[in-house]
Amino acid sequence: MSNPLLHNQDFWVEGKFLGRSSRPLELVHGRYIAPQSMAYFCPTCGDVWARVVVPGEEFAVWSMYCRKHQPPFRLCVAGSLRLDWHREFNESFPREVLLREVLVHADWAEKDYWRSDLLRGSN
Ligand SMILES: [Zn+2]
Repeated sequence: MSNPLLHNQDFWVEGKFLGRSSRPLELVHGRYIAPQSMAYFCPTCGDVWARVVVPGEEFAVWSMYCRKHQPPFRLCVAGSLRLDWHREFNESFPREVLLREVLVHADWAEKDYWRSDLLRGSN
């Protein structure tokens, strides 16, 4: 029997299904509610490049840059699904999503964004 406190979520990233996992109810303003579906919207190209679908639940839309577009803030990782404020969600990533996160972060680290300014001091 499935746990009624857990909700399935399907990860669709760049048009591909990357797996299913589950997330527990969330405490919002003193009430437990089902986790929301999420859509990742790129503010540069307007693509919804990823969706995390919780069946029957409405979408929250996050303004997050796709892999093709560099955010203006150097510590933002373009194409990452990770949400700084949502540890439980980040820890719920299925294996394929985690593997993709490793690649996306490696890509980011390879670029000179953090080396040039942050280590040498910006000017
Ligand atoms: Zn984009």
